[in-house]
Amino acid sequence: MILFFYNPNIWPKEECEKRMIEAEKIAKQFNLELIKGEYEHDKWLEAVRGHEADPEKGERCLICYEFRLQMAAAMAKKLNCDYLTTTLTTSPHKIATAINEIGEKLAAENDLKFLSQDFKKQDGFKKSSALSRELGLYRQNYCGCEFSLRK
Ligand code: SF4
Repeated sequence: MILFFYNPNIWPKEECEKRMIEAEKIAKQFNLELIKGEYEHDKWLEAVRGHEADPEKGERCLICYEFRLQMAAAMAKKLNCDYLTTTLTTSPHKIATAINEIGEKLAAENDLKFLSQDFKKQDGFKKSSALSRELGLYRQNYCGCEFSLRK
């Protein structure tokens, strides 16, 4: 299993770096390879232009899920992976059905299979919170982009 950290949606850059350090801790803990994607915040801003005022879980978020999953799918294909999935569905603030639909579509376009899951179910979110406390991980108090910070 390979972890791919690609979150150019996160603002400011220091916050993204902070979260990346936590991803490194997880990779180390579970002995997994971690690949770090580029911080292309300007490109991400361009993708969500016109949706800055959308509410969380609205159209901007759908664009954001797809933006990040597109890069993850391309990376998985490049690495000859069989499966693609995402930790995004662990959050109670994310729409699992939309994420899984986007994931299925992108996986098919890249000759991959998508592991369609809602990781928050069966106490998934509770377990992830407990694990992050156990490992002493930083827990953010906003989704990531500057527009979620203002709300
Ligand atoms: S609120 Fe979160 S999911 Fe929605 S656009 Fe911002 S960073 Fe992306």
